[in-house]
Amino acid sequence: MHLIELKDLTKTYEDGEVVTPVLKGVTFTIEAGEFVAVMGPSGSGKSTLLHILGFLDEPSGGEYTFDGKLASSYSADEVARLRNQDIGFVFQAFNLLARTTVLENVKLPLLYSRVPSREWEERARAAIAAVGLQHRTTYVPSALSGGERQRVAIARALVLSPKVIFADEPTGNLDSVSGRAVMEIIERLNKEGGHTVILITHETETAEHAERIIHIRDGQVESDDHVTQRLEAEAFRK
Ligand code: ADP
Repeated sequence: MHLIELKDLTKTYEDGEVVTPVLKGVTFTIEAGEFVAVMGPSGSGKSTLLHILGFLDEPSGGEYTFDGKLASSYSADEVARLRNQDIGFVFQAFNLLARTTVLENVKLPLLYSRVPSREWEERARAAIAAVGLQHRTTYVPSALSGGERQRVAIARALVLSPKVIFADEPTGNLDSVSGRAVMEIIERLNKEGGHTVILITHETETAEHAERIIHIRDGQVESDDHVTQRLEAEAFRK
């Protein structure tokens, strides 16, 4: 069974008279444990696609199957549980609570989960350790660097051991050194932690941490290659 299966997925925004087709028939599958980067120029529909995959938005047409079940057949309660437990998000803008310590930020998803409160502290500390921030547990976000803030956001996304981590331009606000450190952590979570990672980026350097790169152009899949194949093809052309 595929973790994610898209068949001819479409998304059209309608705002009064203005109709904007954004996704124009997207078809692919993603298996559990994969690390996939979605690349494409600005405005090509990457964020729209990620929002649909993460149950933050609904498609206009086609089929989206998550974990063997059609997305449209999930009840509101099931979607809420899925968003809370099975899906972790990391955004470009970190989205941390400003006056709250690293530990409390990372604990936040646990408050809305079924995890018993006696386990919260240990779980949060384990997620913080997974991104190497044990020495920053009591800091507030303003006392951290951009790269450290993004690592807190990753720890928060991880704390419930989701099936999939969706990352939307996670290095977009970072300098190249911090960006690389964040990508190394994401790569490790995939390789060692077994988390499925779906990453959106317009930076080739960031995408190359993934095993597979899907290029989107004008709302359609332009190419879908495993990174080794692509590097071999490039070497062949040289
Ligand atoms: P990307 O992430 O690749 O930059 P997006 O998915 O954000 O692309 O946007 C794709 C297109 O959809 C853009 O032209 C954008 O203006 C349009 N779009 C995105 N969200 C909306 C919306 N809520 N209403 C109307 N148009 C939208």
